[in-house]
Amino acid sequence: MWRFYARRVAAAAKRLPLSTAFSMPTNVPQVDELRWKKFHVLDDGFVCLVDVMGDDQSVVQAARVSYGEGTRKVSDDRGLIRYLMRHRHSTPFEMAEIKLLVRVPMDAWRQWIRHRTANVNEYSTRYSLAIDAAQATPPEEWRTQAATNRQGSGGPLDVAIGRVLSSEETELQQQARRVYERRIAAGVAREQARKDLPLSTYTEAYWKVDLHNLLHFLSLRMDDHAQWEIRQYATTIGQEIVQPLFPFVWEAFVDYRLQGMFLSRLDREVIARLMRRLAEAGRATATEEDFLAVQDESWAGLKRSREREECRAKLGSLGLLPPVAPGSDDDD
Ligand SMILES: Cc1cc2nc3c(=O)[nH]c(=O)nc-3n(C[C@H](O)[C@H](O)[C@H](O)COP(=O)(O)OP(=O)(O)OC[C@H]3O[C@@H](n4cnc5c(N)ncnc54)[C@H](O)[C@@H]3O)c2cc1C
Repeated sequence: MWRFYARRVAAAAKRLPLSTAFSMPTNVPQVDELRWKKFHVLDDGFVCLVDVMGDDQSVVQAARVSYGEGTRKVSDDRGLIRYLMRHRHSTPFEMAEIKLLVRVPMDAWRQWIRHRTANVNEYSTRYSLAIDAAQATPPEEWRTQAATNRQGSGGPLDVAIGRVLSSEETELQQQARRVYERRIAAGVAREQARKDLPLSTYTEAYWKVDLHNLLHFLSLRMDDHAQWEIRQYATTIGQEIVQPLFPFVWEAFVDYRLQGMFLSRLDREVIARLMRRLAEAGRATATEEDFLAVQDESWAGLKRSREREECRAKLGSLGLLPPVAPGSDDDD
């Protein structure tokens, strides 16, 4: 099998003149500019690019090996990347890799590390002293518990209460650090001394991931449903690092994944029924009553249906119903 592939790769390389292989600008200047540049996140975190392998062209090259010469007639490089993204032909995106150094509070890191397809080397608090920094929440950034879901956040908490909470937080973090350092001074092993440090303590890690899995991470963690803190990291990685390094991939990702919309069979049927209902009534705008009248029958008997709410939100963002405020539904 590998001989077959090797022959195909060699044949494809012969077929492609150099001018075609390098028809897109490389990202070398951007890499030089970005490498080791710290992008600050939260109060004391950061992400920075350590290394990158590949660029938009790497994705195109890989795809052309599998599709052969034929595609060059029907699509340019940008079009090909957009085609791959639209049709979830994902392996060409695995040809590029990014290595980051990140500094993240443990609670956000706990969510981050669930993404198993990356390679990780984390700062060890068994070998070294725990990083002496904990993420602090300013008085105006405490969030209420969301009213409509069990795991997400609602709006901002009263700043007067926030001031008290922030002051208590400082006290707690300082106390935890003092206890930790007293244990270390008393000769307690670092692996044991750390156990009562708060989840707000920062950790650092090298995180290496291929572009396909990085986009998967970004699509989940830049989403409104992700916790605000990890969203800040994902957004920084996406906008400050991936976008300049892979401009065509990023553009396609934004168009088809980040800002695209998935319609289920049920959603499509609701829309079709709604449009028919409006046409028959000679009206241009729909009401909540219209929506409930055309909802899927499996939702009709339910007091609360998450699928119905999501469908309702999609209709809102399509302008078929008044928009609903986005909410963060759930998290790890
Ligand atoms: C909004 C939100 C809420 C969440 N809530 C919870 C929660 O309440 N509780 C909780 O425990 N987790 C929760 N998670 C974590 C979530 O379930 C995933 O573990 C996490 O997002 C990593 O996603 P992933 O497995 O797709 O990514 P990766 O681990 O990076 O994997 C990428 C893809 O590779 C494939 N893959 C990787 N490993 C395997 C494997 N072993 N077998 C098969 N396929 C594999 C899958 O297709 C996977 O999608 C939540 C995540 C989000 C974004």
